Amino acid sequence: MTRRFIAGAVCPRCGEMDKIVVDSETDQRECVSCGYQDQRPTQAQSELRTRVNRPSRRVEAETEAVTLVMPHSPADKTDA
Ligand SMILES: [Zn+2]
Repeated sequence: MTRRFIAGAVCPRCGEMDKIVVDSETDQRECVSCGYQDQRPTQAQSELRTRVNRPSRRVEAETEAVTLVMPHSPADKTDA
């Protein structure tokens, strides 16, 4: 169990600075001053959410670009 202090981190409960430690294995944060604990989802779950979010952003951007080009495309008249 390895804990590291997060420099400049402020505890949301007691407001103390540099009292937050993070567990490198579970990524759980805890305040050594008041005992506040930030429960995090398991590593596998957070990793899955990140993978899902990244591709969906790229698709959104590509769709937007295509939509902008479409009205100016002559192929639209040919099709109709
Ligand atoms: Zn605290």
